[in-house]
Amino acid sequence: MTINSPVDSSNHGVDVTALKSHVEKNFEKILEELSSLVAIPGVAWESFDPANLERSAEAVAALARDAGMDTVEILREADDNGIMGAPAVVARRKAAPGKPTILLYAHHDVQPPGNDEDWNTPAFEATRVGERLYGRGAADDKAGIMVHIASLRAVLESVADFGVGVSYFFEGEEEAGSPSFRNFLEAHQEKLAADVIIVADSSNWAVGTPALTSSLRGMAAAEITVRSLGHAVHSGMFGGPVLDAPILAAKLIASFHDENGSVAVSGLVANDSAEVDFDEAEFRRDSSVLDSVQLAGTGKITDRLWNKPALSVIGMDMPSVDRSSNTLIPQMRFKVSMRLAPGQEPQQALAALEAHVKSVDLRGAEVQFVATEGGNAYQADLEASANDTARWALEQSWGVEPVSMGLGGSIPFIADLLEVFPQAQILVTGVEDPDSRAHSANESLHIGDFQKAIVAEALLLARINSTGL
Ligand SMILES: [Zn+2]
Repeated sequence: MTINSPVDSSNHGVDVTALKSHVEKNFEKILEELSSLVAIPGVAWESFDPANLERSAEAVAALARDAGMDTVEILREADDNGIMGAPAVVARRKAAPGKPTILLYAHHDVQPPGNDEDWNTPAFEATRVGERLYGRGAADDKAGIMVHIASLRAVLESVADFGVGVSYFFEGEEEAGSPSFRNFLEAHQEKLAADVIIVADSSNWAVGTPALTSSLRGMAAAEITVRSLGHAVHSGMFGGPVLDAPILAAKLIASFHDENGSVAVSGLVANDSAEVDFDEAEFRRDSSVLDSVQLAGTGKITDRLWNKPALSVIGMDMPSVDRSSNTLIPQMRFKVSMRLAPGQEPQQALAALEAHVKSVDLRGAEVQFVATEGGNAYQADLEASANDTARWALEQSWGVEPVSMGLGGSIPFIADLLEVFPQAQILVTGVEDPDSRAHSANESLHIGDFQKAIVAEALLLARINSTGL
């Protein structure tokens, strides 16, 4: 792909300069609006005040009305257990005859702030430091909401005869695992139906380099219990001939990786297909891995993160050191969490893990395996026309060719979107960069890239208006 100059006639009928200058002129206002959203601590976890989510939904609905939507509603659905979900904002602007409809997704809830003392600036007060805006949700995902709001305003105010249908779906419980998401999609399928769905909740490759997220890893988890004794016994009286459960469980845990640190469970999908790689020193710095520690696995770091499985132990039930006594511990339960490469079904992966667990010789100890969770991986359709259009828009805005990247994390609701709207093309974009620290203290947004993300989405909408899908 070549980089077009903004005045090139191959701009597909889009006045790139006009859209760029519209966003630039309004950018301080956009930052203020984002800051006012950051000030609302809407967390969808049980222990947080749900009134803040209501305020957050109201504030977002007001922005949607102001952006030029015909209808704006705050809607809720119950999850499968009958528990009412958090308020979502659904807004619609009907397509002119013959024009497609684009659904723009982001979420207005945020992660809990964590410890105040870990933050250099107040968590719920957007604070500009240099080129970045700090605050919980400044990037994940209130900036995503503002990209959708500001890009629609830009096209409505600077593109004559803008007739593309645009809908908003601003979820309020993404950080709590979207418990009512599937039911919500099914209940409001008609309102949310679209030709293209843009999910703005991911990351760019680097500050200054945009990306489309073309794959996400899936996930699966299991609880494993190892039992070697009927009850706890004195370690002096019985230790030696009898091994305790933690020692046997450690042997099992050690079998999960080979000598390179690659996952050693056979039957798991692993690919080497990443186009780009991380700089090892940078990756080490971002991950905080200790200087003395060797990285695990083989091949590109990006493949290890995006296209190969990962397996960790995320919890363990046994007495704490402070409460320990000289006894042989009869049983130990631990939880294994896996990240799965695109192309792997969670059920297959759990079956492979269970077969592995059952195959390890633990001197006859009882092993119980309970699969607890699974989420599908995602592989984008790179042939989709919207993908090309989005790449064009990103390149026009940044002046740099976009990277097609994977993501090591999972966005399970993408699988739901694909199932409920099988005809729709899905694009996963975002405003984060590797230094955004979403979910951690000192979350931040790169202000320059935020502006470019708004311009890119405005260009994408304008080009779909002029040339169709
Ligand atoms: Zn998010």
